Amino acid sequence: MTDVRQHAEEIHEQFSDHLDVTVDDVASRLDSLVNEYKVPVEEARRSVTSHYLDQAGLERDDIHSGGTSDVQVADIETDEQWVNLTAKVVDLWEPRSDSIGQVGLLGDESGTIKFTKWAKSDLPELEEGAVYRLGNVVTDEYQGRYSVKLNRTTTIEELDTDIEVGDNESEVEGALVDIQSGSGLIKRCPHEDCTRVLQNGRCSEHGEVDGEFDLRIKGVVDDGVDVHEVIFNKEATEELTGIELEEAKQMAMDALDTTVVADEMRDMTLGHYYRVSGPTMGRYLLANDVELLSGPVDVEAALIKARSM
Ligand SMILES: [Zn+2]
Repeated sequence: MTDVRQHAEEIHEQFSDHLDVTVDDVASRLDSLVNEYKVPVEEARRSVTSHYLDQAGLERDDIHSGGTSDVQVADIETDEQWVNLTAKVVDLWEPRSDSIGQVGLLGDESGTIKFTKWAKSDLPELEEGAVYRLGNVVTDEYQGRYSVKLNRTTTIEELDTDIEVGDNESEVEGALVDIQSGSGLIKRCPHEDCTRVLQNGRCSEHGEVDGEFDLRIKGVVDDGVDVHEVIFNKEATEELTGIELEEAKQMAMDALDTTVVADEMRDMTLGHYYRVSGPTMGRYLLANDVELLSGPVDVEAALIKARSM
């Protein structure tokens, strides 16, 4: 196959869903630039691609090069990856912004994942409970949680089938060997839909804000084979430590220092054995249930063991 022909096929593949154009059409445009006008082939390719982008009314970001692979939702662990999913619409939520057409939860046998469909994407409405073959969705990551975005190039085909949706719950049993920074009494950005944890009273998106207190632990559990990063939300943190939010605020006020809360929690939990279960989001296990098994163990020894693996 000639160079021009191969480039033409690749360009054609990118536009085949958007334009009624043949490989020959693309090849003749390329051929004319390369062979008549002696334009370097990469430059010719950019120029021809721009022409078809204009024709299709698309932006360069709307198309992508390279193949799109079929994945299950639990396999999504990379940002900005183009994938195909066969999934059921488990739940639809109220969009919080005009730019969002639909938002909710998709599920397959491996688990569930949030999806967002842009209002400007011009795609048909998805219905709750229906199963779809979704071609060309792009993955996104925020704070270790993955989602998929449906865009203008996404193809949607409703399938006459049902899927038993998995709950991607997992369970870890082991020693709590570390509590990471950003644990204890924290403040979150109060802006709608933000909830970022503030650093020195600042949100990375909204700047200086009057934060809202919350409790959280980012912990590391060593099961003897592997270490697992576990996030305990307010309820799970209260269950784990017995320290409730109001009490934590009082502790911080008395000490004029919020870090006393994390220190106290560390003293209470480090080296203890727990059974933790909950859904997994990217690399994190989100603790829904926590059970104290025994403890404490020698944390240093456990850590050395964990690091030597
Ligand atoms: Zn914010």
